[in-house]
Amino acid sequence: MKIAVPTETQAGESRVAASPDTVKAFIKKGVDVIVQAGAGKGASIPDDAFAAAGAQVVPGGFGDADVVLTVRRPSGELLSSLKRGAILIGGLEPYGDKAGLDAIAGSGVTAFAMELMPRITRAQSMDILSSQANLAGYKAVIDAAFHFTRAFPMMMTAAGTVPAAKVFIMGVGVAGLQAIATARRLGAIVSATDVRKATEEQVKSLGAKFVYADIADAATSGGYAKELSAEDKAKQAALVANHVKTQDVIITTALIPGRPAPVLITEEMVDSMKPGSVIVDLAVERGGNCPLSKPDQIVEHKGVKIVGTVNLAGKLAGNASPLFAKNLANFLDLMIKDGGLKIDDADECIKGTMIARDGALVHPMFGAK
Ligand code: NAD
Repeated sequence: MKIAVPTETQAGESRVAASPDTVKAFIKKGVDVIVQAGAGKGASIPDDAFAAAGAQVVPGGFGDADVVLTVRRPSGELLSSLKRGAILIGGLEPYGDKAGLDAIAGSGVTAFAMELMPRITRAQSMDILSSQANLAGYKAVIDAAFHFTRAFPMMMTAAGTVPAAKVFIMGVGVAGLQAIATARRLGAIVSATDVRKATEEQVKSLGAKFVYADIADAATSGGYAKELSAEDKAKQAALVANHVKTQDVIITTALIPGRPAPVLITEEMVDSMKPGSVIVDLAVERGGNCPLSKPDQIVEHKGVKIVGTVNLAGKLAGNASPLFAKNLANFLDLMIKDGGLKIDDADECIKGTMIARDGALVHPMFGAK
């Protein structure tokens, strides 16, 4: 059995889907691993480190691989070079691109989109959204501090007092919680909001103030949020509009699976903020929580900077890669039996993530017949 780890080809992607540790673990199980030369460069993992772990470093050519691990959806060229029935595991970006999914199915691979991992306790170690969102939440605050023209902590000096920055985190999932913790460590006064009531305790336990409108709990049984009713959206907007005026930095992370990101910071709200304030919109890839944010741009609007950097976790590839790689390895472990591969269709994690098999789309959310 052979596992292949190609170099990522999407623009700006610096992560790699294996680490020396995961390679070592695969080799221990009696599996061969090939890694494309240079695949780890963006994550500061040299070819030598993969070779020392037991991988064969190759220039390319994955046609005889039984398993292909990727961070992002592979190029058409790579897909068409794979053998039918090969297993593809990665962040396959299943939402909003039917043609891309058809291309995956058409290549005949058995494909697993790791974004669809069910939110159950057993799946936590395989959850790429969590491992990457945690780093993104941290990086969002660091980037905000970089673009902010003032300091985060309060400083009392002989020349006067520097006030602590007020940081507001919108969306308290994995990224939001790490953003709260990071902003607190930097000495900011932190507040946060979410539409899932369970987040109140988490926010308070991190020493931040919880800002919550009187709305119905929008938590789903799957652990995600659902879209708010029109009435609740209006209540939330009124509350947020008042709070936003007083904030220096806003980090937005709000997402609803399979839907465009909800608009939380309108242009009028941005108008109400002080010049020099910073918004980091982590949802920019899914349309943005602020309509003014633009992917990979810093938009300046009446003195307020709106930072729309995409793939923030990828900017910390040195940490993001080993965590991503471990998520994939934990998932692949479910299928490795006695040095061979066995797909257990009854396993919730396998069933929940499989999008294509035998030339067809097989996931109920993405066009399975
Ligand atoms: P996410 O990335 O889907 O969304 C980010 C946050 O935005 C969520 O907290 C969501 O409630 C919030 N949000 C959505 N609409 C909003 C709005 N209009 N206003 C304000 N906030 C809004 O979420 P996530 O980070 O993936 O995590 C969601 C939950 O799932 C968390 O509680 C997390 O701990 C849990 N989780 C469980 C597992 C597991 O058990 N295996 C794995 C990962 C996450």
